[in-house]
Amino acid sequence: MKMFQSHLIVLIAGLFALQMAVVCAVLRRTPGMAMSGLTSWAIGDLLAALAAAMPVAAGFAGYWLAADAVDMGLFLAVSLMAVGTRHFAGKPGRASVLLAVNVLLVAAIAGGTWLTHVDWLETLRPWVPLVLKFGQVLLLLDLARSVAPLFAQKRGTGRLAALSLVVIAAACAGLNAWSLAGSIGESGVAGPLLRDGSLVVLNVFAVVGLSVSFALMAHDRLRRMLEHKASHDDLTGLLARTAFWQALEAASTHADRHGKPLTVAFVDLDHFKAINDVYGHLAGDSVLRHFAGLLRKTAGAEDIIGRLGGEEFAVVMPDTTLERGRAVSMHLSTTVRNTPCPSEPDAIAYTASIGMAQREPGEGVDSLMRRADQALYDAKQRGRNCVSLHRATKPSHGAALDDSAHWQQQAAS
Ligand code: GH3
Ligand code: MG
Ligand code: MG
Repeated sequence: MKMFQSHLIVLIAGLFALQMAVVCAVLRRTPGMAMSGLTSWAIGDLLAALAAAMPVAAGFAGYWLAADAVDMGLFLAVSLMAVGTRHFAGKPGRASVLLAVNVLLVAAIAGGTWLTHVDWLETLRPWVPLVLKFGQVLLLLDLARSVAPLFAQKRGTGRLAALSLVVIAAACAGLNAWSLAGSIGESGVAGPLLRDGSLVVLNVFAVVGLSVSFALMAHDRLRRMLEHKASHDDLTGLLARTAFWQALEAASTHADRHGKPLTVAFVDLDHFKAINDVYGHLAGDSVLRHFAGLLRKTAGAEDIIGRLGGEEFAVVMPDTTLERGRAVSMHLSTTVRNTPCPSEPDAIAYTASIGMAQREPGEGVDSLMRRADQALYDAKQRGRNCVSLHRATKPSHGAALDDSAHWQQQAAS
């Protein structure tokens, strides 16, 4: 009766494993998730489900089953999971070699099980469960090792899932190692503890627990990927318009709360239509990417950079006065002028016009951006390739441009 109950529990765990195989397969179908080890986990779960069904199958017609078939199935399942986790962590190492060796080992053991008339194989047979358990301990430790660095990087759900995966893998490895030590200590070869059905139950449940944690990690990665895609511009990787606006609102609130200055720069590439017309649209895209790279290099670590559309960009400089912001924009303007975009056959030279404004206490972001836009318009009017500033005249924010705050830069020639 006891054995029947443990078989039933293993079977239930196997059904969970089957469900997790489906979950991993579904997650894998999402674009961008193809190379994240989910296929290995789906197959691993499938193998674990099959392994869980074996004790029951053996009860009906076990003559065709290899001895230790459950252990072999679980060993292969954990092998696949270790390989999948390495891929997920972006450090596959020699994952395919690891998997090939484990598959060969299991194939050799399974093959040897049926060769009952070979004497020397008979002497090796008691060691089989020990070898499999030892391999399983190593694989579980490898799995935990692959995930540990992710735990340090991730936050929120991903971190919790990575932590639970490490804890389950370490606990399962400890359990198997303890069982292994017990077996060797008792009889020198496979002892009763390894044969105990409860260890199989725990191992199958551990595999399911690992799968749930991994699926949560994969889901967290997928969510972050989609969030990033929604908030960032495809071409340049900078913040897209809506996300930029939200970040500007947040920076504005923060500046108010802490009484800090905040300056914005509105940037527009000059004669960009002509670049498209002369060099083609693809070359135009390269220029946009090139400019985004220069923006990233020039901006400070705290600055918020966005592509507002077409060839229009904006930079929010928290804790920065107009004067300090001007120096940054001047540097950007010079860098752009002196760094043509690499292209074949010739590099593409281009320039940018920049309009700037510093936020007045309590000023809304619409008004602030409007003033920066006015300064940009002024820079264009003055012949482009320069930086213009807009200073608010109190009390209204719709103030005029300050002529003294305009810097025309001559193109190097
Ligand atoms: P100005 O100096 O006055 O700013 O002139 P401009 O030619 O830069 O400005 P205009 O607004 O006339 O042209 C902007 C061009 O940018 C028109 C549009 O085809 C091009 N553009 C917008 N988005 C993209 C893009 O994603 N890729 C490429 N290659 N071109 C784009
Ligand atoms: Mg332009
Ligand atoms: Mg424009």
